[in-house]
Amino acid sequence: MLEVKQIQNGIVIDHIKSGNGLKIFNKLQLYKAESPVVLLINVESKLLGKKDIIKIENTFDVDLNLLGLIDENISINFIKDGRVIDKKKVIIPERVTGLITCKNPRCITNSDDYMQPTFTLISKEKLEYKCNFCDEITKYKI
Ligand SMILES: [Zn+2]
Repeated sequence: MLEVKQIQNGIVIDHIKSGNGLKIFNKLQLYKAESPVVLLINVESKLLGKKDIIKIENTFDVDLNLLGLIDENISINFIKDGRVIDKKKVIIPERVTGLITCKNPRCITNSDDYMQPTFTLISKEKLEYKCNFCDEITKYKI
């Protein structure tokens, strides 16, 4: 088993479905991070068979809504002085602002730069959201 140094302060995004690690890495724009970031792919997991893990040093702030949209099984460990001080599970957000674009080309959120698209969850199973401006149904895709 590959050993990676434990982080001292920061967060560990765990139980990422194998294959989603890189997508999350890109979505969170972790390539721009100034502190060390570790992306582990295909780690053995009792729960999932294989999983991905992301460790971010010196960061405590991640977009839980975005993570919930990508993969609802993710758990986040907050690490301080080398110990886990808090754990959070992500959930599929009921309301989403900005992370999705409305698929209706005539929707005002697609033509007006000042309008933030906002959506309301209508189906958890299918990850379908209804646009609050034009009622168009948009499915979230990573
Ligand atoms: Zn719309």
